[in-house]
Amino acid sequence: MYSKNKIDSFIKEIPLLKDIMNLKPVVWLNPNRKPSSEMPSFPIKKEDMDAAEQLWKRFAPFFVNAFPTTAKTNGVLESPLMEIQNMKSLLNQENTKIEAHYFLKCDNALPIAGSIKARGGFFEVLHYAEKLALKAGILKKGDNYADFTTDKYKTFFNKYKIGVGSTGNLGLSIGIISAKLGFQVTVYVSADAKIWKKDLLRSKGVEVIEFNGDFSEAILAGRQKTNADPMAYFVDDENSYELFLGYTVGALRLAKQLEEANIKVDAEHPLFVYSPCGVGGSPGGTAFGLKQIYGDNVHCFFVEPTHSPAVLTGLVTGEMSNISVQDIGVDNKTEADGLAVGRPSNFATSVSSHLVSGIYTIEDEQLFILLAKLMDTEKIFLEPSATAGLIGPQRIATTNYAEKNNLNMQNATHIVWATGGDLVPSFEREEFYKRGSEALV
Ligand SMILES: *Cc1c(COP(=O)(O)O)cnc(C)c1O
Repeated sequence: MYSKNKIDSFIKEIPLLKDIMNLKPVVWLNPNRKPSSEMPSFPIKKEDMDAAEQLWKRFAPFFVNAFPTTAKTNGVLESPLMEIQNMKSLLNQENTKIEAHYFLKCDNALPIAGSIKARGGFFEVLHYAEKLALKAGILKKGDNYADFTTDKYKTFFNKYKIGVGSTGNLGLSIGIISAKLGFQVTVYVSADAKIWKKDLLRSKGVEVIEFNGDFSEAILAGRQKTNADPMAYFVDDENSYELFLGYTVGALRLAKQLEEANIKVDAEHPLFVYSPCGVGGSPGGTAFGLKQIYGDNVHCFFVEPTHSPAVLTGLVTGEMSNISVQDIGVDNKTEADGLAVGRPSNFATSVSSHLVSGIYTIEDEQLFILLAKLMDTEKIFLEPSATAGLIGPQRIATTNYAEKNNLNMQNATHIVWATGGDLVPSFEREEFYKRGSEALV
């Protein structure tokens, strides 16, 4: 807890904090961002990303077997990168011009989990499963991982438990993949988790334990219960190395897609990436990966709801994961359930503090408006959280970022990371769309 005096001294030092506390949409440019040449050493290296990509390759035959929809991509889980010309035209009628390329990275369409959690969440469980199986000697190097769907493996994994705390999407990804492998899995969910997400999990044989409080309470209880059991493993969204590593692979894949689309990224062609941010793991992982590839030519921005600016609060105050939004009187109440996080990840925030170019906040109503606009112009449905990056180019244009960094915005490529949506049931899609289109008129 922070005393009133301490908070007052933060405000004196950082006037922007007052706006954050007053729930104003803000744009913060990170004064601690470092050029590549001065980057501190990180606990993750490019080799770790490449090794993570290899793990995905080993498991590709498992995916083909276990989830037949992935057969057409040979068990590779990836999402399209789409240029959204109509949405760009619509936004350009309003104010700031988006000059060059405007892409949507469609992780809403990632197979099985329908969200970016199919990267980090799946990765951590696969990594753990492989480790267990190797250690027990039932798996040997060079074996065909298609066998992970056989009873031999299922019976083996059934002795082990996996736990996770979640506002919804992480629980879905961990629950689905763990149950498929045969693990006993428990998801500790916060009050804001949607009923359909809980129902879907239960239908897959996942135990769901509900809490009245927010994400921090759910994760705390889940961590304590899971860690008390020697046969159980906790996927810790507030401090996980494996989750983060899983997300970095998205950067390798994106770089390949950009190359295939003949999009240049260099000093004359800056790349801007806008990622919705909860605890900071997925945006941090992708930013880290992109920095390894593009260095100073990529500019990564995170987006948080005005009611849940967890990473922003941690970074502007320098208190990282010690401080929560509740400590500054912000309620962490948002419809963007993937972003409804009051306290950032310790691991992700420390990595991001020198990488991220800035963070902007967005009001819930704006998320629904963007959801409706994207449906109208592109016929793409995203969940509210996932729309947050769409106004990135416009928000950054209100600052002196491009000028200060001498960037040629006419050549800029903007990538909006769409982080989820495909699993949202139709009744909820209609409600979201209605809410957005009513706010439009
Ligand atoms: C989890 C999630 C995010 C944010 O990821 P963090 O790792 O929590 O920062 C963004 N959008 C959606 C849809 C998510 O499910």
